Amino acid sequence: MVKFQCSIAINLVLLQRLLALVASQSFDFFYFVQQWPGSYCNTKQSCCYPTTGKPAVDFGIHGLWPNRNNGSHPYDCYPKKPFNLSEISDLESSMQKDWPTLACPSSDGQNFWSHEWKRHGICSESVLDQHAYFKTALGLKQKANLLQALKNAGITPGGSYSLKSIHNAITESAGYTPWIECNKDSSGNYQLYQIYLCVDTSGSKLIKCPVFPKGTCSSEIEFPSF
Ligand code: AMP
Ligand code: AMP
Repeated sequence: MVKFQCSIAINLVLLQRLLALVASQSFDFFYFVQQWPGSYCNTKQSCCYPTTGKPAVDFGIHGLWPNRNNGSHPYDCYPKKPFNLSEISDLESSMQKDWPTLACPSSDGQNFWSHEWKRHGICSESVLDQHAYFKTALGLKQKANLLQALKNAGITPGGSYSLKSIHNAITESAGYTPWIECNKDSSGNYQLYQIYLCVDTSGSKLIKCPVFPKGTCSSEIEFPSF
């Protein structure tokens, strides 16, 4: 009888831990974050082009980040398997083009992709396995062509624009209000760094953002050339 009660207690503890783990890994939507390479590179810290050469003059993917409606995001998502480049070998050339690393020292991108998978992707593994995760992000970039959307509104690299005009151009094209993140160039001026759009938990469609991140831009920001 004591043995039986003891095993019930152990099972309850295990169940509690499992429920806590599931809760800590739950998410409500993704942020799909694209980055302007010109704004990554012209900061004080500068950048290094990938070993494959200077990336295209286009927004690059930073990541697809599981998030919750209350603004928090999952953490401690332990991988069943670590990042495995061989699982995405069919996507590698697209990744080099659309998800370029700009970190120094110069590298082929594996470290950046592995970081994004381990820090963010793994938290959505119940929905998207590693291959699906990267393929989904690449597909979303095709759906949300930011450079074209800005160009259609007369907003091109090498100028300064109102934050509002950038917001409006993306909203018109994507159908939903984006979040604009700024960073500062080496002289301390605010510039267009990253654009966030929200995506449903299956990664298949853009949605209205349930919550926006925090951050500061000025009302007029630079869109530096690359
Ligand atoms: P990383 O993708 O790890 O390069 O993170 C980029 C930045 O976004 C870091 O400053 C993080 O603190 C922040 N961040 C990380 N995860 C999330 C998330 N799920 N939602 C919003 N911001 C995040
Ligand atoms: P941030 O949100 O800019 O603070 O970025 C968070 C982390 O992601 C930092 O360690 C950055 O160096 C890294 N990171 C952001 N964009 C890139 C990129 N294009 N290539 C490599 N690392 C990046």
